[in-house]
Amino acid sequence: MNIVQCTYCKKPFTSLGGRICPACNEQIDKDFITVRDYIYEHKHSNIDRIAKETEVSKQIIIHLLKEGRLIIDSPDGDGMLTCEMCKKPINTGRLCKDCTGKVSSSMDKNVTANKKPEEKPPEPNLKGTAKIS
Ligand SMILES: [Zn+2]
Ligand SMILES: [Zn+2]
Repeated sequence: MNIVQCTYCKKPFTSLGGRICPACNEQIDKDFITVRDYIYEHKHSNIDRIAKETEVSKQIIIHLLKEGRLIIDSPDGDGMLTCEMCKKPINTGRLCKDCTGKVSSSMDKNVTANKKPEEKPPEPNLKGTAKIS
């Protein structure tokens, strides 16, 4: 068993693997339904407005967005969430589509690129070549 600090209320609790205590988990589930219903009716919203009108903490809304449980259909992203690699605004998850593609293709490469790069033989020194004038 593992005692960890809850990401939300900062209280230590016995974790079975998660970073959120049971009380907060319950709260997040409730908040999730509140926010989901709000977004359903107000499609083009942003985190600030949602937090104000639903009284759900921004931290929880961002958490739900990052987990991909919520998607805010915001035209410009409102700077709510940014891709963790290229910092482009995104509506859900942690990476934009481009970077998700890059990450999965670089993971494929890593499997084969584990070998050390072969050392190149030293370049022949051409500086000492005599000039014929
Ligand atoms: Zn907690
Ligand atoms: Zn990106």
